[in-house]
Amino acid sequence: MKAILFHQHGGPEVLKYTDTPEPMLRTSDVLVRVKACALNHLDLWVRRGLPNVPIPLPHIPGSDVAGEIAKIGADVTTIRVGQRVVLAPLVSCGKCPACLAGLDNHCRQATNLGYLIDGGCAEFVRAPEVNCLSYPENLNWEEAAAIPLVFQTAWHMLITRAELHPGEDILILGVGSGVGSAAIQIAKFFGARVITVAGSDEKLAKAKELGADQVINYKTQKIRDEVRRITNKRGVDIVFEHVGTATWEDSLASLAPTGRLVTCGATTGYDAKVDLRFLFIRQLSLLGSYMGTKSELHAVFKLVATGKLKPVVDHVFPLAEAAAAHAYLESSSQFGKVVLSV
Ligand SMILES: [Zn+2]
Repeated sequence: MKAILFHQHGGPEVLKYTDTPEPMLRTSDVLVRVKACALNHLDLWVRRGLPNVPIPLPHIPGSDVAGEIAKIGADVTTIRVGQRVVLAPLVSCGKCPACLAGLDNHCRQATNLGYLIDGGCAEFVRAPEVNCLSYPENLNWEEAAAIPLVFQTAWHMLITRAELHPGEDILILGVGSGVGSAAIQIAKFFGARVITVAGSDEKLAKAKELGADQVINYKTQKIRDEVRRITNKRGVDIVFEHVGTATWEDSLASLAPTGRLVTCGATTGYDAKVDLRFLFIRQLSLLGSYMGTKSELHAVFKLVATGKLKPVVDHVFPLAEAAAAHAYLESSSQFGKVVLSV
């Protein structure tokens, strides 16, 4: 089969469009003929290489897959050949106490398609039967592939970790990213007032189309001052963080008393300072979040299928041009998802 493979870590140029054997099917797996695979920042980290993460080489990246079932293993009972599916990206053991409690993102053996195992930037990908999600018939392949990882992540952050309530004020950073555009929609669906931040007026206009109530351009405005102005000096109940060092101080300073900051990433760096006096006197909560559970993803897909949550696709590249797609994602000029069509 054709696939995007890299034999060493590095820049986009290490990604090669080449022939490689089809994955071997185990009895509880399905083989999916990939139609579209969406990119995530995770793909960039995996390609560049991460300290202490031994990614098996050569490697096929790609976590977000939509496609058609080509083959099923002998023990598969709920999926048939020819069925359209979207894959949940997180592959967990299914047997440990965390998995049995439905908390598969706490499984110590959990990994993503395209992370420690081969992913979907290929004509075929192997996945466990339990990772198959109902295909939203109102979406095309590229739109369907744009949903799983970012919506699951944003849902887990806002609903499960930060326990968003109707009427709360929320500051969403990095709104041009896939996770940011998902967060706006989820926050609005749950009745929050959404303030979003981006570095271009064009991105902010698109954020408004998705439902953002207020927008801040961090290149021309100071985030914390604008938040104070918009919230009548109170600050926001929730800050949705994934930017890291570049926005950390503004994020903390934007929180109202008893506010919660929830973070799932640090695209501009990991170093962050906290004045502990500020933390305890204002009774703030700092919440980490990682991925999400399959059951959360089922909830997301129910809302996607009825049009209440919508994928935002910025650009579609053919699979063979994965290197160009990575370079484009690295430039941060996108609004929404960059997707590979297979
Ligand atoms: Zn497990």
